[in-house]
Amino acid sequence: ADGTRTALVTGANKGIGYAIAAGLGALGHRVGVGARDADRRAAAVARLRAAGVDAFGVPLDVTDQESVTAAAELLGRVAGRLDVLVNNAGVPGEMGPGWFQDPTGLDLDVLRAVLETNVLGVIRVTNAVLPLLRRSGSPRVVNLSSGVASLTRQAAPGSGIGPVMAAYAPSKTFLNAVTVQYARQLAGSGVLVNAACPGLVATDFTGFHGSRTPEQGAAAAVRLATLPDGGPSGGFFEDAGPIPW
Ligand code: NDP
Repeated sequence: ADGTRTALVTGANKGIGYAIAAGLGALGHRVGVGARDADRRAAAVARLRAAGVDAFGVPLDVTDQESVTAAAELLGRVAGRLDVLVNNAGVPGEMGPGWFQDPTGLDLDVLRAVLETNVLGVIRVTNAVLPLLRRSGSPRVVNLSSGVASLTRQAAPGSGIGPVMAAYAPSKTFLNAVTVQYARQLAGSGVLVNAACPGLVATDFTGFHGSRTPEQGAAAAVRLATLPDGGPSGGFFEDAGPIPW
């Protein structure tokens, strides 16, 4: 059997997702670059290949079931199985000045859009590729969460979690709960499912306000994507270790 591990990274055309793809590629993975825009996808694949990564494009909009089904079929044809799924694609939702989403004035359409990508998108993609993950000897799933998902930190002003983000933060709290649900359901199957916080990273997402590079942001996810058998599952980690729920 082909020992090369195949990974799918969603939203891999830029930012942290691109850096995760590059990081897994540098460790010898064949990397499916999940991206919804054809030009951005092709550019990322070309850049990764120029860097020596065995990358291929996977057309993927995580909010579109047809697109997700087609992506799983493509992976089945190309690789026959999937060893690593990184659910990285995510959106902040419309923010007010100072990165603020006021719960008392929340536009429910903003909340719906954020949940559609950050939560339903993850479930849609994970379930579509689960049959391929089950064919791997050591399957790993990593969900890109955020420290703002932590209820402990949300409830503690001055804990380092800044402004109120009434759509984005709860979407990642929901994602953490989904992560635990999958970990429980898949316990004993060999599939390890964990959530990673990248820290505050300078990307389009943050208007390049973060202090960390995409490579630094990618490190926790790459580590969880390459956990040894018997490693943790259903956890929530940043570089420094576990994050309180
Ligand atoms: P970017 O905005 O730089 O990149 C987001 C990626 O997700 C892009 O490739 C984007 O594609 C893709 N994407 C968005 N919606 C969809 C969709 N419907 N289908 C497919 N792809 C989609 O963000 P970051 O790299 O900063 O963030 C990556 C992840 O890390 C997110 O989940 C975010 O919540 C999380 N995170 C980021 C932090 C930070 O400080 N940056 C902090 C904590 C968590 P396109 O180019 O087509 O828009």
